[in-house]
Amino acid sequence: MALYKQEQYLTKSNDVAFDSKYSPGTAAPHPGIYRCTSCGDEIAIAGGHILPPQNHKQHNPSNGAVHWQLLVYPVQKK
Ligand SMILES: [Zn+2]
Repeated sequence: MALYKQEQYLTKSNDVAFDSKYSPGTAAPHPGIYRCTSCGDEIAIAGGHILPPQNHKQHNPSNGAVHWQLLVYPVQKK
């Protein structure tokens, strides 16, 4: 579960970017925090970097396949 303190700086969003699930070893389409939908492990990653593989260390294989889902992404000023 991702944590934060200053809630005035986070906003709930229904952006479709949060709906997709990405396979391990593929490029993250957005920078941000991603969550493994099987084990709940969370990672932070730069946009375009490669999402961790099936054997990311917190993931027990008995939990099933890893899928990464975007949890939080930063909004950068233009
Ligand atoms: Zn996992």
